[in-house]
Amino acid sequence: MRLIVSEIPDEGLHQELERTITLNDENVDDALVSLDILRFKKKVLIEGSIKTSINLKCSRCLKEYGFPLNLNFREEYNPAEEISNDKDRELTKKEMDLGFYINDEIDINEIVTEQVLLSVPMNPLCGPECKGLCPGCGKDLNEGPCKCRKEETDPRLAPLNKLREAMKNRKE
Ligand SMILES: [Zn+2]
Ligand SMILES: [Zn+2]
Repeated sequence: MRLIVSEIPDEGLHQELERTITLNDENVDDALVSLDILRFKKKVLIEGSIKTSINLKCSRCLKEYGFPLNLNFREEYNPAEEISNDKDRELTKKEMDLGFYINDEIDINEIVTEQVLLSVPMNPLCGPECKGLCPGCGKDLNEGPCKCRKEETDPRLAPLNKLREAMKNRKE
């Protein structure tokens, strides 16, 4: 959905949208998006909330799980032309933090996707207690202990355990 900046009325706009967002390969459930859009001359202020759920892969056990997202954001958008006209001037830190729009248009989908992306955890975990996979045999330790480690072993020793396992097998 494209928003034409010059058509935003003085009293602002309120929008409720239902979107399906796709982030790379991760598919996202339908997102409920609520937006309040205000314009001050050419400056646009968007306040919004996004409710959705993303399928993430746990960084420890590699299982897929649904990550519920309920986020609020507030962003300011300025016409990119105005700043790029002034090439000699270095952008200040504050300006770089602001959003831009080009040709009187703001792409709402892009904004929503960006906000969702910003909220995706770097190292997703299916749960804070996830035990992960055994570095020796690859078994999902959330389902129970594996044969190759009776006591908690340091993952750094895993290659050693693997070697030990291999030696044992050779003897048998
Ligand atoms: Zn996990
Ligand atoms: Zn194991």
